[in-house]
This record gives sequence, structure tokens and C-alpha cells, in this order.
Amino acid sequence: MEKAIEHKDKAFTSTRNACKVCTPLGGSIVFKGIEGCVPLIHGSQGCATYIRRYLISHYKEPVDIASTNFTEETAIFGGEKNLFIALKNVTKQYNPKIIGIATTCLSEVIGDDMRKILHKYKLDNKEDETLPELVFVNTPSFMGTHVNGFHDAVWALVNAFATSGTTTQNINIFPGFLSPADLQHLKQIFTDIGLKTIMTPDYSDILDNEYTGEYEKLPKGGTTIEELQQTANSKASIEFGYVLNKSNSKSQTAAEYLESTFDVPRINLNIPIGIKATDAFFETLESISKKETPEKYRKQRGKLIDAYVDGHKYVFGKKAVVYGEEDFVIAMISFLEEIGIETVLCASGGSSGLLKKVIQEKVNPKHTININDNFDFEEIAETCKELKPDIIIGNSKGYYIARELGIPLARVGFPIHDRLGGSRIKHIGYEGTQALFDLIANTLIQQMQDNSPVGYKYM
Ligand code: SF4
Repeated sequence: MEKAIEHKDKAFTSTRNACKVCTPLGGSIVFKGIEGCVPLIHGSQGCATYIRRYLISHYKEPVDIASTNFTEETAIFGGEKNLFIALKNVTKQYNPKIIGIATTCLSEVIGDDMRKILHKYKLDNKEDETLPELVFVNTPSFMGTHVNGFHDAVWALVNAFATSGTTTQNINIFPGFLSPADLQHLKQIFTDIGLKTIMTPDYSDILDNEYTGEYEKLPKGGTTIEELQQTANSKASIEFGYVLNKSNSKSQTAAEYLESTFDVPRINLNIPIGIKATDAFFETLESISKKETPEKYRKQRGKLIDAYVDGHKYVFGKKAVVYGEEDFVIAMISFLEEIGIETVLCASGGSSGLLKKVIQEKVNPKHTININDNFDFEEIAETCKELKPDIIIGNSKGYYIARELGIPLARVGFPIHDRLGGSRIKHIGYEGTQALFDLIANTLIQQMQDNSPVGYKYM
């Protein structure tokens, strides 16, 4: 049994190589998943450039993100003037249906009153027929991670548009921060089971787009304003993840808002990675639809179990270090438990204070896991040296640790900056779990093969 490592008081008060990304980045991804929406970063040019660069490198798609372009003068007198200019420019250049505004550290420190500023802009421009919808989210990066920005932006959109009306048979799905491939898979599952859904956000095509030879200022796809309005009238909301935006105790999720304001029942599930979590998801769909899981998915489940049997001798008893967003690592650990991999370190840059509690309650691991939130990559590296895992599972930012220690890295989640196909990694459902299982098993097999003194080509 692995012993929990006692961590002394941190020698560093600063973060060294953060295992998280900046808050408006999460908000920007959500705004990219809304039809006709342009994200606008309210802050300095560098914030928008960093977010744009980061997203393009992972998704390999054009990611237009506007900026209010703060200068020294703005930092002293506030960002109202710049925001007004940016809104005019973005409206003229893109003719968007929505501009999604995410604040930055600087505008938050200045204390720009976004509600008041946008109210003034709308009043000043009420005769302008091209005036788009304006939605903003407060995303101070010193108070959270990209995950907070993501969930808070979803809340802001639902809060801005959800309108009470006649109840429908729609199911709201709030998948959280998954890959475009995961969103495409989710949509297919709902279609196959015959359920109409409203997915917020839906960047399944926008951030994994087809080549048309034409540059599209506003790529097709995304959740529509009409769908956002209708979220108030759906039969239920399904929300993946347990930590969500709860690092701020005052935060509410979109599904919680719809339940408390419009009586739309909220169903909260683990991200469906692994058989147990995917079974729970399909059981929920069966109970909502009153239909059995389609044969296609029963077959996928059976094949996955077959793969578990085939591969257990390569994965069972291996030790893993897992890092990433809090809800993502919770789901990954649940999957690793069922294939017999011991997670020796679970780390996240998130600091909700909930990670340990949720893992103990929802995953109930059979062995001791060192669970550390508010962890950075340097701390992960130091702990890896002590724990000597067989595999590291997480995004590409941990590559330097894997390289230095000679431990293989299975790349999952976000960001993947040193490989192609980050947007095509499927993590969820039986199909996504199958892909993860093969990836992890083959990564371990390759390491054994590379370290073999004789080399072999048959196993
Ligand atoms: S200043 Fe704040 S908002 Fe801007 S990139 Fe840095 S962390 Fe993100």
C-alpha cells in the first residue's frame, strides 16, 4: 500500500509553472461555443494574445479573440472608453449575434463596473440595429482557474437568456470542459437514444472544423440564443463534474440556476470516463427517455470489458501520477481504479478545497492516494521523484517531467501543445474509455519494450 506523503509547509509562496490556466481563457472557450459569438477580453493585448495562442496551439483552428487593448492610461482611468471602442470595432468587423466579454486581472483590480458600463453602452446605442447581445463574465485570474472562467461563463449566458415558457422535452446538457470529440460523441449518444438536447457550450464543430478553403470570421455551429432561452423550459439538466466552480462558495452553476429559478431538475454526474461512470450516465438517459440503451452502446460496453480482460496484465498494479482540472482527475482516478492502476499522486492547480473530499466520497479508492490541489508542476516533479510512478497521465505541460525522469507520459485533457489531434482525443463514454485504455496500456507496453535489454516484437 502506498503511503501518503506528508507535505511540509511550502518553501515557495509563488507558483512555479502552474498546473492551471488563466480564468478568462475558460470563459473564451465557452463563448467560442455559442453561435455567432465573438469573445472579447477586457484587458491588455497580452492577455488576449496569450489566450489566442494557447487555444490555437491545442485546437489547431483559427481562434479570433478580440481585446480592449489596455494601456497605461486605461490602467489609471478605467477601461470604459476602450471597451466602447472595442465593442464598436467588433460589431463592425464581425457583425456578431453576441459579444462575450471576459474581464482580466487588470480590469478586475481597477474595479471596472461591467454591468454599469454595458448598460451605458446599450443606452447610448439603442437606435443601432446592428447592436449585438452583450454578455459579460467576471474572470479575475488571481481568484480561480480556467475552470471557474468556464463554468461562470456558462452561468452568465444562461442567466442572460433563459426565459420561462412552455415546458419542452429537451434535456439541457452542461458537459463542462471536454474536448470537441467528446462533445460530438455526446451529441451522437443523445441522437441515438432519441433525446433532444441543448448543449451549452457546443464547440464540437467550431474548435474542430472542416477545411473549406474559405476563412470564416464566425465559424458555423454553437449553441444558439434561442436554445439558451429554452434552457428554462427543459425537462431536466444534466451536469458533469462535482467541483465545478465551487472554489467560490457563492458561485452557482447554470444547472443550479435553472433549478432554483425555473424548477428544471438538475442531475449531477461524474464525467463519464470508465465503465462505472458511463453506466451511471446511460442509466440516467434510460430513466429520462424510458428507452433502453441502444444495442450499439451495449456492444461498445462489452468490447470495452473484453479489452480490460485482454490488457489487465499490462496495467494491473502499475502506479500512476495524474494531474489536470479537478473534475477531470476525479473522473480519471475513478477509471484507473477499475482497471487496477494505483494513482499514487493526484494533482491539480485548482484550489477549491474539495478535491480530497470528493475523491473520498465519490471514488472511494482502495488504496492511499496523495491528493494535492493548488499544486504546480515543480511540486509534481518533486513528488514524482519520491513516488517513482510507472506512468504520468495528463496534459502536455508535464512532458518536461516525463523526459527528465524517464517516465512515459500519456497525453490527455488540455492543453496538448506538442502533438496533433488535441481536439480529437475522446475521453468519455465506452468509446472514449476504450481509446484511453488502449493509450495507457500501449504507453506502458512501449516503456517495457524500450527498457528491455533484448528487445522483442511479440508479447
Ligand atoms: S494578466 Fe491575468 S488575465 Fe491576463 S493573461 Fe495573465 S493571468 Fe490571464
